[in-house]
Amino acid sequence: MNCRARRIICRRLNLELPMKHVLKFKPRLVKLLLTVLTPALLFPQAPRADEPSHRVVVRVGQVLDVRSGTYLKAAAIIIDGERITAVGPAVELMKALPVGVKVFDLGDATALPGLIDCHTHIMARVPDQEYGYGINLLTKSQAFRALEGAANARATLQAGFTAVRDVENEGSGYADVALRDAIDQGLVDGPRMRVATRGIAAVGQYFPFGISPDLAGFPTGAQMISGVEEARRAVREQIGHGADLIKVYADWQTPTLTIAEMQVIVEEAHKAKRKVAAHATTSEGIRNAVTAGVDSIEHGHRADRAALEQMKAIGVYLVPTLSVIDAMVAKAPNDWSSERSKSYLESIRQSVAMARALGVRIADGSDPSAADRHGKNGEELEAMTRRGLSALEAIQAATLSAADLIGWPNDIGAVEKGRFADVIAVQGDPLADISVLQHVKFVMKGGRVMKNDLAPQ
Ligand SMILES: [Zn+2]
Repeated sequence: MNCRARRIICRRLNLELPMKHVLKFKPRLVKLLLTVLTPALLFPQAPRADEPSHRVVVRVGQVLDVRSGTYLKAAAIIIDGERITAVGPAVELMKALPVGVKVFDLGDATALPGLIDCHTHIMARVPDQEYGYGINLLTKSQAFRALEGAANARATLQAGFTAVRDVENEGSGYADVALRDAIDQGLVDGPRMRVATRGIAAVGQYFPFGISPDLAGFPTGAQMISGVEEARRAVREQIGHGADLIKVYADWQTPTLTIAEMQVIVEEAHKAKRKVAAHATTSEGIRNAVTAGVDSIEHGHRADRAALEQMKAIGVYLVPTLSVIDAMVAKAPNDWSSERSKSYLESIRQSVAMARALGVRIADGSDPSAADRHGKNGEELEAMTRRGLSALEAIQAATLSAADLIGWPNDIGAVEKGRFADVIAVQGDPLADISVLQHVKFVMKGGRVMKNDLAPQ
């Protein structure tokens, strides 16, 4: 059993602590568990036995320090197992290396930390057609949804996104938990995942809309609740089935879940050390969610100053999800030509610019839910710069800030000693041209090269 599998078992045990009952009555199981767990507890950072070489080097033209926005030129990144052990001038670091260490020479490319998308729907490939959402639920098995998720996860990783916060799976049961675990076990390629599972919405106020009331058992895109006890139960169920975070819908054009319902959701989630992400596009919905204690506002497209000031005061993140809107406008500009649409687009621009000016924490999230959006996560960074963020601020939103929001502030989000060796490389200077992050040439995750379109090895 490899180290990753052991960690998964550890994680499960943490979730289900009343193991003492099992231990008391099942001596053979106790023996088995001790055999499996003891090495993992003693050597939690032990490299995987199937790694061809535990130590590798990435040699690159420059490494971006995402804190300062400066470049370390002619650099080397030393990796031992899954983690970075040194970053510095290649001329110095290479001297100290033993003969025979594998070197990935990336020429004059620019290396950055693996990017992080804090708003994905990895399990969703909703058809772009009328009633597409309902058709998606009606025509695909959960098994097929899981395989779609695997394809989406691979595309996301290949695009340079080595971690995602998946904010609900759009009616795919707990397939996102299965995908997360399959990726952790190395069965399929994909980013590190934090998953929200089903999402929680007020009865009748989330997709699919337009279903006949006679079809009472028609599947839904989220877990529909009404009242505080149903809210509490939904959180407990989702965490019990593997949710890393909870997603709520605070509004849908108008406020939906009540403050009291969301307070109970936050209480249960935080008690279990899970964060809560709230979909909210209206100022009232944002204020309700922030008052209830959520950790992030997703979209926030019509946020007014008061709502943003409240977010700033408490330290709530904004995940503005802009590129999905830009893609819709580009696809059908005539649909967005009305005064109402123009006003909506302008309110999005203003809300992001105001959030930045007020110092609201911003994290990157691209909101892909259609087949053609997975793998285009990098467009979000450019979309943020179009609303006033500098290139460095957009990169920080997809690295340092995203690492903090996702809950791995010391493990990912920077190319630094001690962090996971999640490293990408691009041709060109991302601070001068943010769009180069839409063409990632090299992807390493946890010390394993997942893509290399640079110099031949
Ligand atoms: Zn979304």
